[in-house]
Amino acid sequence: MGSDCLFCRIVAGEIPATVVRETATTLAFRDIDPKAPVHVLVIPKEHYADVATLGQGDPGLAGEVLATAAAVAEDEGLLGDGFRLMFNTGTYGGQEVFHVHAHLLGGAPLGPMLA
Ligand code: AMP
Repeated sequence: MGSDCLFCRIVAGEIPATVVRETATTLAFRDIDPKAPVHVLVIPKEHYADVATLGQGDPGLAGEVLATAAAVAEDEGLLGDGFRLMFNTGTYGGQEVFHVHAHLLGGAPLGPMLA
């Protein structure tokens, strides 16, 4: 991908983001419009459009995204009370940015569904 993809541009350092964790293959940064006291997006640096293509194309990398999300959850103090980790996928899933990202949400009770 590259210049057309917002999150590829964040990975490239072309667009600023508040990065909370970085590994060789993943990046975690705060959502610009947080829906919870903690709202971090976790992405693979390599471009995959959504979690279906990532999970089928590189399950190991999908696991690295989960490991980074778990590390951020620990750093943010979310392990005790819990948190939500979700991948909006496609049109019906409400996905707006087509570079796969896990939403890590926590810091308050989230209710049964995310509005
Ligand atoms: P989704 O609807 O699952 O595709 O979520 C996209 C998320 O990206 C939304 O929660 C946005 O607030 C967030 N977002 C959009 N632009 C940026 C940005 N420049 N930095 C951080 N988060 C962003």
